[in-house]
Amino acid sequence: MMHAQLEALLEIQDLKSQRRELARETEREVQETVFNLSVDDALEELDAKIAEMEEALDPPVRARYRRMAGKHPRVVVPVIRGTCYGCFVAVPTAQASQADRNAEIRSCQNCGRFLYHVD
Ligand SMILES: [Zn+2]
Repeated sequence: MMHAQLEALLEIQDLKSQRRELARETEREVQETVFNLSVDDALEELDAKIAEMEEALDPPVRARYRRMAGKHPRVVVPVIRGTCYGCFVAVPTAQASQADRNAEIRSCQNCGRFLYHVD
């Protein structure tokens, strides 16, 4: 089972990457001319949703999230075969080998990003 806060962080990250894509000029043009949609309205909706989800995070998670979000576009990074894919440093095995690793919020001791175990 995945920790609810980790799930929320992944969701926020996904919304932010959608926002970045939508804000790109080529995307804007397609959305506005082909689909007749207002990109500005969509961006406003996304910003409101992102802000709301950030507010709903537990205070210590939110504090770390904000620190990390100021430095990196991705605040949650995958751990693959024991390596943090944010900074490419090995995650200590005691931390990496537990069965239900995504049931707790963990962060990389080297780069500070939140870890999402995929293997
Ligand atoms: Zn790292």
